[in-house]
Amino acid sequence: MIEQEKRTWAEIDLENIVHNYQSIRAQLPSSCRFLGVVKANAYGHGAVPVAQVLQSQGADYLAVSCLDEAMELRENGIGMPILILGHTPVEFMRTLIENDITQTVTNLAKAEEYSAELTRFGGELKIHIALDTGMSRLGFLCANDSFDSGVENVIRACRLPGLVPEGVFTHFSVSDEPGEDNERYTREQFRLFCAVIDAVQSRGGVTFKIRHCANSGAVVHYPEMALDMVRPGLLLYGYGDDSGRFSLKPCMRFVTKVTTIKLYPAGTDVSYGRRFTTERPTRMGVLGVGYADGLPRLCSNRCSFAAGDGIAPQRGSICMDLCMIDLTDRPEVKVGSEVELFGPKSSLTALSDAAHTIPYELMCAVSKRVPRVYKRF
Ligand SMILES: *Cc1c(COP(=O)(O)O)cnc(C)c1O
Repeated sequence: MIEQEKRTWAEIDLENIVHNYQSIRAQLPSSCRFLGVVKANAYGHGAVPVAQVLQSQGADYLAVSCLDEAMELRENGIGMPILILGHTPVEFMRTLIENDITQTVTNLAKAEEYSAELTRFGGELKIHIALDTGMSRLGFLCANDSFDSGVENVIRACRLPGLVPEGVFTHFSVSDEPGEDNERYTREQFRLFCAVIDAVQSRGGVTFKIRHCANSGAVVHYPEMALDMVRPGLLLYGYGDDSGRFSLKPCMRFVTKVTTIKLYPAGTDVSYGRRFTTERPTRMGVLGVGYADGLPRLCSNRCSFAAGDGIAPQRGSICMDLCMIDLTDRPEVKVGSEVELFGPKSSLTALSDAAHTIPYELMCAVSKRVPRVYKRF
């Protein structure tokens, strides 16, 4: 990036990552391990810098979604344990072993496929078994009628040659959502998770060193489910603590600049589709940010941003590379002034509500075109 350009950028405060890590850690039993979820480029914050911080802070594990993400970390000097949460094709078994990467195994067929390949060249692969306790996504099915077959399949998978079972985990679907029914559901997922682990031990003699299930929602709402390791993502980046227990600090500030200011009379149609018409003489700012940068078009006419000493409403359709804001009431804002799209002064949650989505999606959506500027410490 040409430094003086500074069209739109994301400031990443690594000191706040440290703060969030330490405040989560402080609430955990001292024997509990910490896995930092850094998939999807660390929710848009930059996987390598975030992993470097977690590694230097003494976190125990990292999780990513795929081999490419794991390799990016290994190639940048991250030596700590890494778990791949998603699928890795069997032809990459050697790469996993050579780079000491832990692979999730989600069903017996995959375990058998991996094992066959591993025996072919005599390798040993560290694995974590994923149990499906109610998320109905990945993992060995073990709810209701599938309990016995689930336990049986996990035992068979763990006994296959070449596979070294280190951990077992499950994922909650509503641990972050309020209400009695959701609480019941989460507690049932946890009960089932523990019951399968017990049965795998009593029927098959298989034990796991690391049992983990707590995502951010569970770390906040069900501290008793921490087991041997917690697995938060969102909390680390400063969101998701509706209980206020952790005094988290947001780590990303999405910022742009006013590129142009124009004056329009009342009755002027603004942007594609003429979806906004000025109701008064208007001082309209043009921002160098659009949906190609990660500002959802769905937020058009429904959001505002921090500018100058206050906030300014966004007006008209958000374009690919540009959008407009009404600066009539913000005379202190000039061409070149910064506008905060989300961060300490502009709520990410308000923006994600306006886009009918969750904060996760907007953090991940900050696109490749947007340079990350790191505030180190
Ligand atoms: C993404 C993910 C997490 C982290 O979820 P948060 O809600 O961000 O804490 C944990 N576990 C698994 C399996 C995931 O896919």
